Amino acid sequence: MILPNLEYLIVHHCNLNCKGCNKFSPISEEYFADIKEFKRDIIKISELFNIQEFKILGGEPLLHPKLNKFLILSRSILKDSKITLITNGLLLPKLPELTWKIIKKYNINISLSIYPNCKINEYLNLFRIHDVSFELKYKNYFDIPLILKGTEDPVKSINYCQNVLNEFCPVIISGKIYPCGYSALIYKLNERFGLDLPKTRGLNLYSKNLTPLDILNYLTTPTPLCCHCQGINRQRCSWSKSLRSLDEWIT
Ligand code: SF4
Ligand code: SF4
Repeated sequence: MILPNLEYLIVHHCNLNCKGCNKFSPISEEYFADIKEFKRDIIKISELFNIQEFKILGGEPLLHPKLNKFLILSRSILKDSKITLITNGLLLPKLPELTWKIIKKYNINISLSIYPNCKINEYLNLFRIHDVSFELKYKNYFDIPLILKGTEDPVKSINYCQNVLNEFCPVIISGKIYPCGYSALIYKLNERFGLDLPKTRGLNLYSKNLTPLDILNYLTTPTPLCCHCQGINRQRCSWSKSLRSLDEWIT
């Protein structure tokens, strides 16, 4: 069975500090994913699904000191998947030659998020020099879908994010899979601002007799947090640095 997208956050913090970051990196503690846990989880999910695109991201994934191992391991397990490393680019000029060689050899696609003041020409030059595949994603604004009151129709909300915006992007964290980054990480917002937005427990990938269909059903069924997630009416903010205030994430 096909899983079109899968995200794995190997770092939670970031060296850029974007207002409204949808992974809550400006309010994240330093966190580096464990390579053994990563290996176990990716082997497990690859036994259940044919993953079309596997996204390695953060926070900023280039901050992980074992980045090379994550890249090699990903390709050794997901032989036929598109593997994409999503980065803000700031550390590309400092990337060791060995990492560039690994990116090339293991056919890792780099997705460069382009924020204002991005040194895009310098990064494009590095891609050319190292002959790696890449794509560019412009990030001039951020959506702010979350609202404090749980008044949204959750079915409409999940339909909007997964089918209208085409943002079906499940996330794996420590052996559990979640329908989206918000549901996986909402605890960060709760902890930082003393809120009680509904947490999603995630589906344990190691549950007995779990089938791919069970997982797909779980990922496409609204969670309680979807009642706090706006569809078409969501607000949008232009890119700027985060001041770590609640209104960057909640309207
Ligand atoms: S670069 Fe990406 S991960 Fe980092 S703070 Fe900005 S949006 Fe978040
Ligand atoms: S909380 Fe629900 S509606 Fe919002 S992004 Fe996640 S799955 Fe979609």
